[in-house]
Amino acid sequence: MIDFRSDTFTRPTPGMLQAMLQAQVGDDVFGEDPDVNKLEAMMAAFFGKAAALYCPSGTMSNQIAIKVHTQPGDEVICSHLAHVYIYEGGGIAFNAGAQVRALEGDRGMITAPAVAAAINPDDVHKARTSLVCLENTSNRGGGCCYNWEEIVSIREVCQQHRLPLHLDGARLFNALVATGQDPKDFGQAFDSISVCLNKGMGCPMGSVLLGSENFIKAARRIRKKLGGGLRQAGYMAATGIYAMENHIQRLTEDHLHAKQIAQTLLEKPFIGHMLPVETNILIFEVKGDWTPQFFADFLKKEDILVMPISPTQVRMVTHLDITPDMVEKTCQIISEMQ
Ligand SMILES: *Cc1c(COP(=O)(O)O)cnc(C)c1O
Repeated sequence: MIDFRSDTFTRPTPGMLQAMLQAQVGDDVFGEDPDVNKLEAMMAAFFGKAAALYCPSGTMSNQIAIKVHTQPGDEVICSHLAHVYIYEGGGIAFNAGAQVRALEGDRGMITAPAVAAAINPDDVHKARTSLVCLENTSNRGGGCCYNWEEIVSIREVCQQHRLPLHLDGARLFNALVATGQDPKDFGQAFDSISVCLNKGMGCPMGSVLLGSENFIKAARRIRKKLGGGLRQAGYMAATGIYAMENHIQRLTEDHLHAKQIAQTLLEKPFIGHMLPVETNILIFEVKGDWTPQFFADFLKKEDILVMPISPTQVRMVTHLDITPDMVEKTCQIISEMQ
């Protein structure tokens, strides 16, 4: 099976499994799991943040961050395509009791002027604006990367209004290798960052939340309340350490694969608008005699899985378990489609 549905469809590599076997483990709820502690320290150092918290999923680390930054009845500013808004089961309302001010923007990326205009005045009629969330890369935006200047401008608006800035960096490593940006710049610009290890990094689970000592102390308490305090989590944290050491640079290969597939697709008359392919995600329209479902069903017969994500669009994602041979086979089959 050649599975392009998501970069979550990866299996641990032999090296990763070996790393799991060698984990020392202890009880992480007591702060005594050496591999969890090592992973948290590694990630904090990598992004130049004071502290980190290992979480079971990216949804949980985003939700924890939002809960720590807000009070019930507050308003969170994010894109109308943000994962925290459309793909976390209404978690912002459920977990934090906060509401969302969803902004339109280019491919899920919002701008500093739009953020400034959406901040509510100090008025009893209005919800208190208490957080701004960005997503980089933007999932629903086809894996696009923010311009650094825009992030700096949004940071300035947040500082003027004393608003914390959170980054849903589920695929931040993809953005880093695609743009060559310094991870420590992200650590400086954002009050908190959530980074997934279960996407292109190839881990079976896990995400890391980064922030100040105080922020992470509060986050640890929320993680416990959500039932996310795990015991011998080191078996899983060991996969994160392994991925940090072995799977960051190779993301460039996923990006290359995505571009190769894009090129083949764009030669077909039944492929409509495709979002610019900046990292490992392709989102494109299927038109004419083909529908996204028909396209997906056709490829499935060839053992290739893709995901229809709207009545007109298909998503394909490249990752660790997609080999050059698989990309070649996929391109071959697409080029023969009529
Ligand atoms: C996948 C994803 C998450 C979190 O996903 P989990 O499956 O809960 O780990 C968060 N944000 C974005 C943009 C994502 O793509």
